[in-house]
Amino acid sequence: MSQPLIVGNWKMNGSLAANVELVQAVVAGLPRVTARAAVCVPTPYLAQVQALVAGSALCLGAQDVSVQQSGAYTGEVSADMLREFGVRYCIVGHSERRQYHRESEVEVALKAKRALSAGITPIVCVGESLAQRQAGETEAVVKRQLAAVIHENGHCISEIVVAYEPVWAIGTGQTATPDQAQQVHAVLRSQIRAATAHPERVALLYGGSMNAANADELLAQPDVDGGLIGGAALKAADFLTILRAASR
Ligand code: PEP
Repeated sequence: MSQPLIVGNWKMNGSLAANVELVQAVVAGLPRVTARAAVCVPTPYLAQVQALVAGSALCLGAQDVSVQQSGAYTGEVSADMLREFGVRYCIVGHSERRQYHRESEVEVALKAKRALSAGITPIVCVGESLAQRQAGETEAVVKRQLAAVIHENGHCISEIVVAYEPVWAIGTGQTATPDQAQQVHAVLRSQIRAATAHPERVALLYGGSMNAANADELLAQPDVDGGLIGGAALKAADFLTILRAASR
């Protein structure tokens, strides 16, 4: 496994002025970290943030991509367009998109495929709802979500990143315990091992209220290779604290 990976998901936050302050502060702190770092920004800010991260180790990411290649799909953004802005990572299948945009498992798998074919690493989000956890379905749910992506992407699966994001932990302040995270990550790891000859290339991120205070413990788990960070990625000091925790 290469260096841990910490990815900020800004969601629908930011402004031209706020982005300058945030990105400049993160970039200034990067020389003291060894973990890999990226920020997934709203589409209108791609060009701005591309310029702000130029020459630094901070990678640029997007939050979604179209299943279509090009054409009459009003409002959609293609993988090739993202690539033109230097996008290195793209979140696919975030639970907010599965929930509010009714993205199916097949669509998520196709989005991962589009990203891969444009040379972009998809960060495939999987995770169970609270009701599914309480019903003892966590393992079955995450395995089914990942299986759809494996089925569609075959041997390319070694080029993806997987983020385990329990839906009940996203933006709620309720984090999975390190044990809960590790248990699910171990399941995902063995699924990846069975699917590719190069499982060591696939980083498994934890996401869901990871913050400056709990990152250490979560990142210390053997199968947690990094984090996908929402709220805490909007404050440079917190994001850098998480990056330093991942660098130990
Ligand atoms: C996310 O939305 O990907 C996320 C992890 O959010 P938060 O850290 O705010 O829970």
